[in-house]
Amino acid sequence: MTQPDPTAIIHTAQSQSRHLLTEVESKALLRAAGLDVVRTELASSRDQAVGLAEEFGWPVVLKICSPDIVHKSDIGGVRLNLGSAEAVGQAYDAIMNAARTAQPEARLDGVSVQPMAKPGVEVIIGLTTDPQFGSLLMFGLGGVAVEVLQDVAFRLAPLTSDDARGMIRELRGLPLLTGHRGQAAVDLNALEQLLLGVSGLATSYPQIQELDLNPSLAYADGCLAVDARIVLRSDGPPPAPRPLSEHTQAALERVFHPKAVAVIGDKKAMNYMWLRSQNRFQGKVYSVQIDERELPGIEALGVPNYTSLADIPDEIDYVMTAVPRQVTPRIIADCAANKVGGVMLFTSGFSEVGDAEGKQLEQRLVETAEASELALIGPNCMGVYNPQIGLRNYTELPTGEAGDVGFIGQSGTHTITFSLAAPQHGIRISKAVSFGNAAVLDASDYLNYLAADEQTRRIGMYLEGVREGRRFFSLLREVTPHKPVVIWKGGQSEAGQRATSSHTGSLATPVAIWDAVVTQAGAIPVADFDTLLDVLHLLGLAKPTTGDGVGLVAMTGGPSVVITDAFEQAGLRVPELSQDSYQELASFFTVIGGSFRNPLDSGYTIGMGQSTDNLARLLSILERDPRIDAIVMDTGAGLVAGQWQARPQLLDSLLDTLSAFATRSAKPFLTVLQPFNREAELLSVREQFHAAGLPTFATHARAARALALVTGYRRFQASASEP
Ligand code: ADP
Ligand code: MG
Repeated sequence: MTQPDPTAIIHTAQSQSRHLLTEVESKALLRAAGLDVVRTELASSRDQAVGLAEEFGWPVVLKICSPDIVHKSDIGGVRLNLGSAEAVGQAYDAIMNAARTAQPEARLDGVSVQPMAKPGVEVIIGLTTDPQFGSLLMFGLGGVAVEVLQDVAFRLAPLTSDDARGMIRELRGLPLLTGHRGQAAVDLNALEQLLLGVSGLATSYPQIQELDLNPSLAYADGCLAVDARIVLRSDGPPPAPRPLSEHTQAALERVFHPKAVAVIGDKKAMNYMWLRSQNRFQGKVYSVQIDERELPGIEALGVPNYTSLADIPDEIDYVMTAVPRQVTPRIIADCAANKVGGVMLFTSGFSEVGDAEGKQLEQRLVETAEASELALIGPNCMGVYNPQIGLRNYTELPTGEAGDVGFIGQSGTHTITFSLAAPQHGIRISKAVSFGNAAVLDASDYLNYLAADEQTRRIGMYLEGVREGRRFFSLLREVTPHKPVVIWKGGQSEAGQRATSSHTGSLATPVAIWDAVVTQAGAIPVADFDTLLDVLHLLGLAKPTTGDGVGLVAMTGGPSVVITDAFEQAGLRVPELSQDSYQELASFFTVIGGSFRNPLDSGYTIGMGQSTDNLARLLSILERDPRIDAIVMDTGAGLVAGQWQARPQLLDSLLDTLSAFATRSAKPFLTVLQPFNREAELLSVREQFHAAGLPTFATHARAARALALVTGYRRFQASASEP
């Protein structure tokens, strides 16, 4: 039989308006594309089945072949290990009868015949199409691991070899592949090649919507797919990602660095919050308000008021407005007519509400903004914050020198809360934006802007979703090797409700995909606000390391025990120190009431932080130890905060010692300041630590989680910069 080419197989199915390829067709396509699949031929009669079995050699497998039957075993359509012509003949009849009974309407092509493959480790390789992100590869272990534990890995296609390797290695069940309890290890290289082959198919044949190789068998030498199912797309291929418009970026430049701003429709009922937020703005501020009753209040703020945007004798770069939703189309049209750079709509009640009028109004805004290339921020948002020039979106926000952390938030509350919390965490903001419904500009547009912004060295995000997933992914990939991006995703627990006919599709939940995609793109996914702050804090204050060996210093016994647990649980290691370190420690360490294996239980030795010579010596030993990559000290704040308060010079000399060490050391140095009893006092202590360049964490677990995430990012960064 001549080998048909994959396109011909796809065309045959399409000409019959079929989306599901049979196992025989799927395997023929895969073989033609050069992938390792078990030889499989169609028999449309009993005799033909016997003939094929004799040709292949015994034993063989028979399976029902029908474009209408998805799960063959479920209807009694699979017979394994058939060793004789008689067994094949009987199996043929039994399978055809079972299929006719189970699905009388189904088109039955006959039965497929294939050699019985020798036993191996069952794995699943799959391809599915995510509506947000496009072609997505899956790899998992077969059987219980995938059904019950959902131990699977995802990556967007096309895969790099690193991606393929990473997918296999991140499985919890990896030991089952690398030789568990004396079993031979399987050929991981062959599995990688199979994954890369499927990824190549996704690129070459965009008609393929889903593909399952379930199972493939992995051997010590090679691997083989014994089942295959391909589903074709019913619609056209997804559109290519839209490029980011240069005009938008220029408009955003005006929005983030305006020379003149206007607030439209601010009012007493809102305590003039938008106008009052601009009282430290270094450019010009104008008000537009037609309601006579509001004018005295505006005048009292010293802001000139006009009755229309057109009357303002200045070019307006940025407009803030909270007018009722019915009025917004007119305001946006006005902004467009007056060549405003951008406008933020605090107004809510659009697509997020879900009523027809809201949706329609939002559509009108989009049309006007897009036609005029006006940067429309929101609606349902708080707009932008640039502390350096005093441009604020909330009256209590600090202004001053430019920081180096950019923030992009889908929620107004989270964006403002982040901006307020940042200073206490040693995080200084360069620019922040709350963008709400993203009717026109989406997370990608703001990310693109902050990626190019020189002040911004690190980026934090709060997202609930992105509209053009592929565009976001590609952009993240470009940004993350240079600037870390930390993403907190809301709505993680939302259940995935997508109809898919493949196993891969059903396992590809929104949460699993999001985490995989973000990580593949080199960003740092975090699950909550605290971790977002902690990770940005650590990125800004500590030296980088790619190693996972942590040296721990605690004051007393109990904390020494649990700090170790916290770091081990976060996936880091607390190793034994080198002999040199132990020798030196033995020469001065007080072992009565302490110990120095790692963690160093050292309260006696360092006088709870007061014997700064011993403290410096101890830290230097960890710094020199080749087994240690990062150093963490629990300051015992719960016990010593009272002394710090009574004798501030104690704290000063501790800070001097630690700060000198952190500067000198090439390894990251973290401190834990757990506020057990003096929460309020410790706030200012923390700020002193930060000012001294020392990152602080409220708990062991938070320090451990942040260090693990940042170390993972540093590894990505190191591999991304390899040639
Ligand atoms: P289903 O449509 O039910 O998924 P499969 O083709 O996967 O049917 O067959 C069911 C099971 O039979 C597989 O999980 C595998 O364990 C075994 N199997 C199928 N084909 C072969 C083969 N050629 N060699 C060995 N085992 C096979
Ligand atoms: Mg199967």
